Amino acid sequence: MTAKLRKKLKKGNLRNLPSEYRGRFAPSPSGSLHFGSLIAAVASYLDAKAHQGKWLLRIEDIDQARVQTGAIQSILQILEGYGFAWDETILYQSQRFKHYQKTLDDLIYQQQSYPCSCTKKIIKQTAKLGQYGWIYVGTCRQSMANPQAQQYAYRLKCNDLTISFEDKLKGKQTQKILSEVGDFILKRSDGVFAYQLAVVIDDAYQHISHIVRGEDLLDNTARQIYLQQLLKLSTPEYLHFPIAKDKTGRKLSKSNQAPEIKIADKLENIHQALQFLGQQPPAITDFEHIDDLWKWAIIHWNRNKIGTTL
Ligand code: GLU
Repeated sequence: MTAKLRKKLKKGNLRNLPSEYRGRFAPSPSGSLHFGSLIAAVASYLDAKAHQGKWLLRIEDIDQARVQTGAIQSILQILEGYGFAWDETILYQSQRFKHYQKTLDDLIYQQQSYPCSCTKKIIKQTAKLGQYGWIYVGTCRQSMANPQAQQYAYRLKCNDLTISFEDKLKGKQTQKILSEVGDFILKRSDGVFAYQLAVVIDDAYQHISHIVRGEDLLDNTARQIYLQQLLKLSTPEYLHFPIAKDKTGRKLSKSNQAPEIKIADKLENIHQALQFLGQQPPAITDFEHIDDLWKWAIIHWNRNKIGTTL
């Protein structure tokens, strides 16, 4: 990376990691919180608090079309009602577009990113299906497949680097970016910045040192580390916990209509989340107030127990 790009990135407030623990919870407001998202909040919160760290909140409202009316307010009310206390001001991705664009512009200038006019149809005809989805073969790397296209995406020109990292729960993870994933998207053809770009820029901006999130995001991590290395940003520590599933074995998610959690059920739900996370709390009847349960949970938090009682 040139001095110019570094200077520009600095202006976009990307800094290196601090020595203190800084964790985060980053819900997408495509719906309210369900039990699966509560587990992500609880695990990231307890890991931060057990390390005397900070816990930050980021609303990932990057894809405005998917933001559900009232979801942000409902997420904040539930978190507050459950007794979560976040440090610092909430970061909204919808207010960060110019930073994402600035980084993208620099990558384009450096010829690290290129426009791609491939339609889904072309991709399916040319790409092969790998274990992480369609592997883009770089059709538009040299020149756009369809120069007449009105809309195009931007992709990252990847090298065949093997990215390895040590997940604190799952151990060593390895991914070959170019051959197993391909040049991935930084900005979609509808103008929406990709999760990979926004999350890397914002984790750096918020000085996040530890990321605790569900294992459904595990295979995204190597791409994020690849981008961090390219942008000369530090790599946080990662821990991916098992995700909650419904009776039919499907991931609990907004798109699967997982039920919204209620403030009235906070004691039961936090107790259940602790059980899910292997923390073996005493019987719920031992806790009169949610604060007592939180106190117990912070003191007894043991990340090595996660996944042991599933
Ligand atoms: N916004 C993502 C979600 O709600 C989480 C992203 C992350 O933790 O990196 O699933």
